[in-house]
Amino acid sequence: MSLKRLLSLFLLLLIHLFIPVLLLIWMSFIKNVRIVDFFMKTILTGLYFLLIYFSGFWGYFTYYLRYLFIILYSILVARSFFYFDRINSLISKSNPPHIILFIEVGLIFILSYYIYISLKAYSYDIKGINLDFPFNNGIYSIIWGGNSVVSPTMNRHYHHSLYKKIGIHDKTKYAVDITKLNGFGTSALGLLPKINEAYSIFQEEVYSPCDGKVLKVVNHIHENIPFSGIYPKDLGNRILIKTSEFIIMICHFQNGSIVVKEGDQIKKGALLGQVGNSGWSDQPHLHIQANHIDDSTSIGEGIPIFFDGKNPIKNTLFFK
Ligand SMILES: [Zn+2]
Repeated sequence: MSLKRLLSLFLLLLIHLFIPVLLLIWMSFIKNVRIVDFFMKTILTGLYFLLIYFSGFWGYFTYYLRYLFIILYSILVARSFFYFDRINSLISKSNPPHIILFIEVGLIFILSYYIYISLKAYSYDIKGINLDFPFNNGIYSIIWGGNSVVSPTMNRHYHHSLYKKIGIHDKTKYAVDITKLNGFGTSALGLLPKINEAYSIFQEEVYSPCDGKVLKVVNHIHENIPFSGIYPKDLGNRILIKTSEFIIMICHFQNGSIVVKEGDQIKKGALLGQVGNSGWSDQPHLHIQANHIDDSTSIGEGIPIFFDGKNPIKNTLFFK
């Protein structure tokens, strides 16, 4: 097993399963606790669940778990009211050690800060454009999306070291990565499977999100093994579509699947190709971005995208 896959698996399990379950267990022990402890448990657990609700990677486990944790937390909060008289009577009990309180308050600040920057992903400082959603068959979720300049927890397309290193972060800052969910609410069968075919979105047909002229096509790059950590540092098989106002770039198509040619005039909804896992990509998914037209380099600064009028923030679902 590659180090990349092992590390990803460990972090996914820790963030979405181990910590939430431990917090729920910790929260459920409220008999004979001090009032301070009771509030700390409720606030800390609530903030953690809120943070992972917004910025977690639910497609790897299941989106159902995202909602289940919120329900379980609400049940535990409601249950605690039955104990409230008893807790209240314990108010005079000695305070917890200062160091524990200090750590808990510190964690509350850290969690609040990350929730705050996650929520900042919803707004942009410049006007966005509206596109058609590029798929039409199933439930799709956003892996990374939103204002990545102010919100690295929701969208990595600006702050990631690779984008900065090759100097394209200003062009990719509002890019969106899309995956597809199966009936279990996950993007693949199994945890980080090694074969592309296990991912629901692999070989899914991609349709043009706008009218325009095909400016560039790259269609010869081989597929990656998911989560191997060994990827070519380029955008993979891709299409650039130019309209009168902007350029759309769509990346990571399957090798040889693109059916349009450079110079073609295409309409919204035209078949473009199939989703693959080519270029710098962990797993089969579609990367899409909009850019201003820059005379010198063709692609200028990034523009925020909306699909069918909806803001594609991380974890937004599209039902098609
Ligand atoms: Zn991307």
